[in-house]
Amino acid sequence: MSSDHPSHAVPIRQTRLLIDGQWVEAASGKTFETLNPATGQVIARVAEADVEDVNRAVSAARRAFDTGPWRRMSGRERGKLLYRLADLMEQNMGELAALETLDNGKPLNDSLNGDLPLSIDCYRYYAGWADKLEGKTIPVQGPYFTYTRHEPVGVAGQVIPWNFPLLMQAWKWGPALATGCTLVLKPAEQTPLTALRVAELAMEAGFPDGVINVVPGFGPTAGAAVAEHGDVDKIAFTGSTEVGKLIMQAAGRSNLKRVTLELGGKSPNIVFADSDLDAAVEGAFFGLFFNQGQCCCAGSRLFVEEKIYDEFLERVTRRADRQVVGDPFDPATTQGPQVSQEQFDKIMAYIESGKSQGGRLVRGGARVGTQGYFIEPTVFADVRDDMTIAREEIFGPVMSVIPFRDVDEVIARGNCSLYGLAAAVWTRDIHKAHRLAAELRAGTVWVNCYDVFDAAAPFGGFKLSGIGRELGSYALQNYTEIKTVTMAL
Ligand code: NAP
Ligand code: MG
Repeated sequence: MSSDHPSHAVPIRQTRLLIDGQWVEAASGKTFETLNPATGQVIARVAEADVEDVNRAVSAARRAFDTGPWRRMSGRERGKLLYRLADLMEQNMGELAALETLDNGKPLNDSLNGDLPLSIDCYRYYAGWADKLEGKTIPVQGPYFTYTRHEPVGVAGQVIPWNFPLLMQAWKWGPALATGCTLVLKPAEQTPLTALRVAELAMEAGFPDGVINVVPGFGPTAGAAVAEHGDVDKIAFTGSTEVGKLIMQAAGRSNLKRVTLELGGKSPNIVFADSDLDAAVEGAFFGLFFNQGQCCCAGSRLFVEEKIYDEFLERVTRRADRQVVGDPFDPATTQGPQVSQEQFDKIMAYIESGKSQGGRLVRGGARVGTQGYFIEPTVFADVRDDMTIAREEIFGPVMSVIPFRDVDEVIARGNCSLYGLAAAVWTRDIHKAHRLAAELRAGTVWVNCYDVFDAAAPFGGFKLSGIGRELGSYALQNYTEIKTVTMAL
């Protein structure tokens, strides 16, 4: 599984912290390694932020918010900066895609045709909102004139994961910058490189010093320092439910900063016998195996109506056979390595638990190659709802195919999860489709499609899948405070 494709030659331009418009080493002088998951080898050493660096970054963001030019800039000017950042990313798409693939392991085709266009589009979408943040005039009783102002919440702390580094950054930065907040971003330790490169492009675009600060480092140190900081007005987090709870506790202990969380999932993907089976097979395959299975909204509980269960299992398994696992820079590759040894080990342990708890392994289950973190596309049949692989987030290329009998039963079983991020339904019956769309307790329900994302469509979870919604106009609420002004007439 060697990875010596020429695209590996992508330059690593930036490995330091961005604080107050300056690229600096960590106060401690420490660095950490970021690895190429296709080989396990070190790509670069990156400055490791800790509490002191986070304090400096938050102070810079505070100053930029309270007294900098950002505050006096009109929404339209903020929008122009966001458009410029999007343009610069577009001009550097090849480099950014290669860097994302090198650091994360996702196939270059996916970085180039998925992550990059979606991220760029997200910045443009929010650029368009920057000058449209309108309050209301509100009729009240008595001789008063009342109106509302939607003001930026202040300094936003943002902690993101490694599965979609560029895109999660865009989901966080777009609404924060459109509304006039300043920000401190902590990228994931596994994938800091594209965040730093985009921050360079943002400086080139002309964002004032201190508006954008980036502090790579570890979760329990740098991440926790952002969550605890009394001068951070709002924190946005994407990652595990476990850490989401810690973030919320830290907010409660410190200054009640506003919290939005986008956490895990165990999404039901429900296939009825009356669906377009070709489309459903493709949707079931893509909904689980996309991004090496490392999606919070992965359709990891694939419910298939009993009548077509055997046929569907056969077809989806044959589809998985066609997955090409290998060097993510090879154009033929459709599945790269998992992001890290830790994730690899965790997924292999879930595969073992699936076997030992009586799941029927119909394909895969083993490592691919001898270096890097590659795992065979894996399919378990006859999975029961109480098995660990049907309850916990695996975050890997492991499909669980589960039979069901009728509509009421599958609604109840689909909802029987601590999570509620996404769900999908495959059927040609419009009544069934509407009924499930209404009754499934999830933040997104896809009907006859999967993983369809748009910067305008809100995304987030019910239950343990999180708090609040990202994307669309809904995300603007996370980054604004509403001020009521009442004036005597
Ligand atoms: P994670 O620990 O939740 O990581 C997400 C982000 O939070 C990273 O930037 C991480 O820093 C940071 N973090 C960790 N501990 C923190 C703390 N105490 N305070 C503040 N920030 C903290 O997730 P993971 O360990 O990478 O992955 C574990 C599992 O989480 C996965 O197997 C998957 O089930 C789930 N996950 C979900 C998503 C999603 O999109 N919802 C994304 C990734 C993972 P470090 O870089 O140091 O870890
Ligand atoms: Mg890496």
